[in-house]
Amino acid sequence: MNDSVRLGRIGGVPVGLNWSLIVIVGIFAFALAGNRFPLDAPGYHREWYALAGILTALALLVSVLAHELGHAYVARRAGLEVEGITLSWMGGITRILGDAATPRGEVAVAAVGPAISLALGGLLAAAGAAASSAGVGNLTVAAVDWLAVINIALAAFNLIPAAPLDGGKVLHAVVWALTRDRWKATHVASRAGLVLAGGVAALGLYEVLGRGDDIDGLFVMVLGWWLLNAARDEEQLSKVQHALGGVPVHDVMRPVASAPGWIVREDFAERYAALYPGWVWLLERWGGGYSGVIDGNSLLSAPPTPPGTRAAELAVPVEAAAGAEPCEEVLAALERSGGRSLLLVVEDGRTVGAVLPADIDAMLRSPRPHLRGVATP
Ligand SMILES: [Zn+2]
Repeated sequence: MNDSVRLGRIGGVPVGLNWSLIVIVGIFAFALAGNRFPLDAPGYHREWYALAGILTALALLVSVLAHELGHAYVARRAGLEVEGITLSWMGGITRILGDAATPRGEVAVAAVGPAISLALGGLLAAAGAAASSAGVGNLTVAAVDWLAVINIALAAFNLIPAAPLDGGKVLHAVVWALTRDRWKATHVASRAGLVLAGGVAALGLYEVLGRGDDIDGLFVMVLGWWLLNAARDEEQLSKVQHALGGVPVHDVMRPVASAPGWIVREDFAERYAALYPGWVWLLERWGGGYSGVIDGNSLLSAPPTPPGTRAAELAVPVEAAAGAEPCEEVLAALERSGGRSLLLVVEDGRTVGAVLPADIDAMLRSPRPHLRGVATP
């Protein structure tokens, strides 16, 4: 979800808002001022309910932000890069790049958020009780009590052991620690996420159809849909990890050689591509350097081109390739590649191999039956 409004930095972490948040804060403020507070603390003027509703909804935002800042702080301490925090209609998201190196680190990053929400809930409940016995106005007490309950509920919901919730990350870390298999852990957490999403969506449907509670029910159904998407993303990630995890680049790379890029296609096919099937060619440029990369097989099978077409015209520019090292995992190289799936493998400053997007697709389509132990501590 993108930031619509940048709020600035807190402790060096960029914090932004998504427009959807404004809608949900409005709905909360409206529901509190219109229904909740008049019931819990009757006898006030309408303006007071409105003011209390707005302030309480904003205070909820601050609680969610505290929860997310906890994730961000612990993630940084664990050596992970934090891209930023986005607050949106379903709460907050802390965008952390990469994964914790150990299950213990993963638990710390995940658990700190609910711990903060729980602590806030406890403090607010105590403050509410103290304010009530000190004779502070009912409306203030009602607002503080509501914030206490919602923070505790936030902690409880986030601890449900299903991806993408914090509890799902804890589950992931536990399965990872027990099986030493990161893929299996992602698979288990995402499956739990699908079950949770189905349950939440069914609850929403029941509220709309069974109880006629349209607004709450629709909100719950949208939440279920969001959870479903997040769990499916997680499932997809587990497939990628299963297919590519633990495979070093040198196991799947193709041989690379250089060849003149300026010769015409037919000559190139005859003198290079057909003689060395499966090789990848770095096309030399007049005056030095390389202009592009092409694999011999795709040059041979490319659709007809006008006579005189040069090999370089059928190649992809070298900038479309990302660098990789022979001994690193394919997965690690792809994570660094910025979305590029053509890898040029460099050793001691020399290009020694290439991994093509088609090779990666093929690995994803037919994952190996056994995972060759992804690096675990
Ligand atoms: Zn959280």
